[in-house]
Amino acid sequence: MEANASSPIELDAVDRQLVDGVLAKQRRALAKTITLVESTRVDHLRRAQKVIGALLPHTGNAIRVGISGVPGAGKSTFIEALGNYLIDQGHHLAVLAVDPSSSVSGGSILGDKTRMESLCQRIEAFIRPSPTAGSLGGVAAKTREAMLACEAAGYDVILVETVGVGQSETTVAGMVDIFTLVQLPNAGDDLQAIKKGIVEIADLVAINKSDIDPKAAAVARAQWKQALHMLRPASPNWRPPVINISAFKKEGIAEFWNEIELYRKVTTGSGEFEAKRKKQALDWMWSLIETGLHTLFKNHPQVHTALPRLTQQVATGQTTPNAAAQCLLAYLETGAVADVA
Ligand code: GDP
Repeated sequence: MEANASSPIELDAVDRQLVDGVLAKQRRALAKTITLVESTRVDHLRRAQKVIGALLPHTGNAIRVGISGVPGAGKSTFIEALGNYLIDQGHHLAVLAVDPSSSVSGGSILGDKTRMESLCQRIEAFIRPSPTAGSLGGVAAKTREAMLACEAAGYDVILVETVGVGQSETTVAGMVDIFTLVQLPNAGDDLQAIKKGIVEIADLVAINKSDIDPKAAAVARAQWKQALHMLRPASPNWRPPVINISAFKKEGIAEFWNEIELYRKVTTGSGEFEAKRKKQALDWMWSLIETGLHTLFKNHPQVHTALPRLTQQVATGQTTPNAAAQCLLAYLETGAVADVA
């Protein structure tokens, strides 16, 4: 029978309990589901797919906000201030993280219990550290599924935090509705972001620590506005705003959130909000296919056997990279024993 991705999902009793628990907004069930999603065991991966599949019809109702900035920019101070503000407004908030450094250091940007101390104590907030194992792509896939589980559990605001290093900003921008940058009010920092091409993906820039030197903060804001002005906006309906905030003094928090709400309103009206989510879902599917193909390729017995020899031949110039690649790929296609030699 042909595989049908949309056929009803059969769950065993344990997983049914998890799904029911998440839908009943039980934090313990949500935490367990995310642990399942983060597991690298093959049987867990299969179960996780079923559980997420069963939760899928209950997802999509949150606003997904990415928050990025260099270490020390004030992200956690800001998330704590914003989180408390949102809860006071009646929201339920989940905070997740994509931290490419955590797999190297074994630490995690949300792992430190002293961060977001007051937010941690609020029942309306669910805070989850970044998974500590795997590549950026692997960590991101798990965060994405954790996000869906949080939505199914009724959290209506999802904040995805990431540190401003490497590819993590682009990865997070690819899973959220609106991507925001927390910046420090100094020009060096601005230039670095501009150079790295981060500006292009920012939907909103918040200059933090504006309390320290309001004049410098105003200059930074003007510089950012100018830099953003020079770019062609990603949406014809949205020019990324630049605001001054102080996470420490809890200033600019409401303004930040008003911009998020405005963004949602404007892009929903233009159809861009839904279109972006659809594109993200398709991009995600393709990235999973690519990862899967890569694994299939590496694990293919004939590829496994031929790879050392062909690697050697390419390295010594006996074979061209093209010929070697074609030969290896042919194993996948036909299982044939094609060879370049
Ligand atoms: P993160 O690494 O980006 O999460 O940064 P943190 O939130 O841990 O903040 C780094 C340091 O900056 C801490 O000592 C904070 O107290 C301080 N900080 C954060 N926001 C502000 C702010 O708006 N004004 C001032 N003066 N200090 C801040």
